[in-house]
Amino acid sequence: MVIQENVCLANKTTMKIGGNVKLFYVPETENELIDIAQTIYDSNERLLILSGGSNLLINDEKCFEKVIYMSSACLEMKELDNNKFYIGASNRIQKVISFVNARNHGGFESLIGLPAMFGGIIYMNAGIGGKGNSLFTISDFIDSVKVWDLYEKKLMELPVEHCEFSHRHSIFHNQRYVILGATIQCKKISCEESKKIKTERIKFCREKFEYGNGCFGTCFSVANYKILKMVSSYDKFRKIGKGRVTFGENNSNWLVNHGSGTYKDAIKLINTCKLLHRVCKKNIKCEVIIWD
Ligand SMILES: Cc1cc2nc3c(=O)[nH]c(=O)nc-3n(C[C@H](O)[C@H](O)[C@H](O)COP(=O)(O)OP(=O)(O)OC[C@H]3O[C@@H](n4cnc5c(N)ncnc54)[C@H](O)[C@@H]3O)c2cc1C
Repeated sequence: MVIQENVCLANKTTMKIGGNVKLFYVPETENELIDIAQTIYDSNERLLILSGGSNLLINDEKCFEKVIYMSSACLEMKELDNNKFYIGASNRIQKVISFVNARNHGGFESLIGLPAMFGGIIYMNAGIGGKGNSLFTISDFIDSVKVWDLYEKKLMELPVEHCEFSHRHSIFHNQRYVILGATIQCKKISCEESKKIKTERIKFCREKFEYGNGCFGTCFSVANYKILKMVSSYDKFRKIGKGRVTFGENNSNWLVNHGSGTYKDAIKLINTCKLLHRVCKKNIKCEVIIWD
């Protein structure tokens, strides 16, 4: 296992915000991952697992003790019978899509624009479309998820119905499990068809998304769009993030770092949105995971 010291977490997230971590573990096998995760868990330390870092807001005034980076531990991908595949948690979604497409399977090509690993995608139940107008989520393709259970200290295969998937949520938010991979059920799809979907989606992302110098995807999984629009368009609110972090001009639910944005800038904007929702008696739920 590679262990790096004093690693800057900002560089490991798409938002480009975050403090340092004293010990940055990069396990190279499933067993190394399980060992280090269980050791940290047993010593009552905070267990922080980082995959693509595309849904994380990390405090940049903090120095964290330990972080496990998922890049190398679970890289297995294999075709099974009956349109099924086993996909390890460390694989980038682009690699997963290429792998299944090359075997004339797929169905989730539109996830091509996510800078994420498969484990992070399962954890977040990532998908296309918002709450109420969702086109699909990854849970539509999952048969079972292979996890390490930190309570029971054993490997488990959780069937999809036990994963409590809902909009951008899953049982994995309870921090009991380390996701190692999943068995997925794909659709049959020709290479031409999958290529067309990917090309269209990439074009859509390039035209519509505001990447700035760092960004998340959607910040809130539940929110009132009128309120978000107000926060993203009025100068008074834009000043809250000091202009360094703002909501997108076209994507009012996207938080964009314009270069020198800080954790405080982002948190102030998020808290302002929460306050406005409370005042207007509207529901709001943060999609982004915050490491405070
Ligand atoms: C440009 C852009 C576009 C996006 N578009 C979309 C979109 O269209 N649809 C959508 O749903 N989301 C979208 N997102 C958000 C994001 O990509 C997803 O939420 C994705 O699922 C996060 O995966 P990740 O690998 O980056 O996870 P991370 O951000 O690294 O982690 C997210 C959470 O999962 C936990 N975790 C990660 N791996 C494991 C594991 N193996 N075991 C246990 N816990 C784990 C982490 O501890 C953390 O709590 C977008 C983000 C960006 C930046």
